[in-house]
Amino acid sequence: MACWAATPGRVVSALRLSAARSSVGSSPFQASTSATTRPPKITIAESQTSWTSFSSAVESSTAAPASAAPPDAQAPPLATTPPRAGTPILSDQAACPFRAFARHRLGAEALEEPLAGPDARARGTLLHALMRELWGELKGSAALEGDCAPAIERAARAAVAEAELDEPFAELERMRLAKLARDWLEVEKKRAPFEVAAREDKRKLKVAGLELSGRIDRLDRLASGGCALIDYKTGRPTPNAWQGERPDDPQLPLYALSTPEGITAVAYAKLQPGGMKYMGFARDKGLVAQAKDWNALLAGWRQSLEALGNGFASGDARVDPKNGLATCRYCDLQTLCRVHERMSALEEEGEEPE
Ligand code: SF4
Repeated sequence: MACWAATPGRVVSALRLSAARSSVGSSPFQASTSATTRPPKITIAESQTSWTSFSSAVESSTAAPASAAPPDAQAPPLATTPPRAGTPILSDQAACPFRAFARHRLGAEALEEPLAGPDARARGTLLHALMRELWGELKGSAALEGDCAPAIERAARAAVAEAELDEPFAELERMRLAKLARDWLEVEKKRAPFEVAAREDKRKLKVAGLELSGRIDRLDRLASGGCALIDYKTGRPTPNAWQGERPDDPQLPLYALSTPEGITAVAYAKLQPGGMKYMGFARDKGLVAQAKDWNALLAGWRQSLEALGNGFASGDARVDPKNGLATCRYCDLQTLCRVHERMSALEEEGEEPE
């Protein structure tokens, strides 16, 4: 995909006009987008080490001959640990290098809009708390042979209490979570014996010289040998999101490669009502689909993750959305990267935007 024009050099000019935490309004090119896709306002944390060095680099470039100016899509290589060094760095780098640069080096983020009741992220947090509490009590498949109703009730109550929800949302969420847990345990009952070895376990992960922090949702020790790495998902996950040079969701492959326990299966636990199941790849038959070549799968993951980590660390900040505007649709950085300006320019030139 082509390297688009609106990148860090232009961002610097815009940011010079901003205060320490600026609110950046909607793009003048936004007229061509619908109200439902209007990008939100964003804030930029000016106090990022990387921003300071980046700004300095651009300042010096303005005094130097044009031939010495840094490429527009190239930020200075990473000199210090990014302020929020989590695994989203790699998924953002895969989706669009500029997105990773803006979020994890400039600290740009959307202002949240208030909602009545828990939003999607809060519901995801509730679900993770539910599963953490539930498996903290059940501990493995042996407990599924008994009455799990009291454990489910306690786990749902604990998750809702942790979220500090007000009534009537608290009671509604408690009932929703209890039903979800009952349905999910029916899926678990069909598995071969296992023990839950870790829940919401924080890990330090290394890739391409970056040290990232992550949290494994669950690790099961399998009676058949090896361990299964499990990630809870609502919605419609697909293991295809782990594949290719620019994987949409590289988090589980990174966990798999960084976990010393001997991973033999990597799985999404799809917790969508009406479609609950495990999905993923395994070395052996059983929990999920058996990989054709397990070692080759891991080697491919290692290669793509190293490339993404190297891209981020080296300052690759191209405005290069993986699937064109489909990638931009749910990105909150449109006013910063000015992707719609690029779209307008392409249309004026008679080219079809991707
Ligand atoms: S809106 Fe699109 S081009 Fe801009 S940062 Fe997001 S993904 Fe990249």
